[in-house]
Amino acid sequence: MPNPTRSRKDRPPEVKRGHIPVRTCLVCMRKRPKGELARLGLDAHSGRVVEDTRATMPGRGAYACRECLPRLRLDRRMQRAFRNRAKQVCVTDVPILEQ
Ligand SMILES: [Zn+2]
Repeated sequence: MPNPTRSRKDRPPEVKRGHIPVRTCLVCMRKRPKGELARLGLDAHSGRVVEDTRATMPGRGAYACRECLPRLRLDRRMQRAFRNRAKQVCVTDVPILEQ
């Protein structure tokens, strides 16, 4: 029978940072506050990954640093983020086609 000594159910020492949601950049995998990242959304019809500037696109989003946007590729991470539905990345002026 376990001895009911002092139950250590106190909350773990979490670092309080004022509830800033953190997301991981799809390119460099750095974690940053969500506000510093661009949200990417998938246009379901065209299969294009675009910057979801208003954060209104349905479905799963992905995130990338602004400076990483030009380096976005349709790689496995991207496909995972969009469940293999991404066909094209259009976050910059030049569309990035599947390679
Ligand atoms: Zn990045």
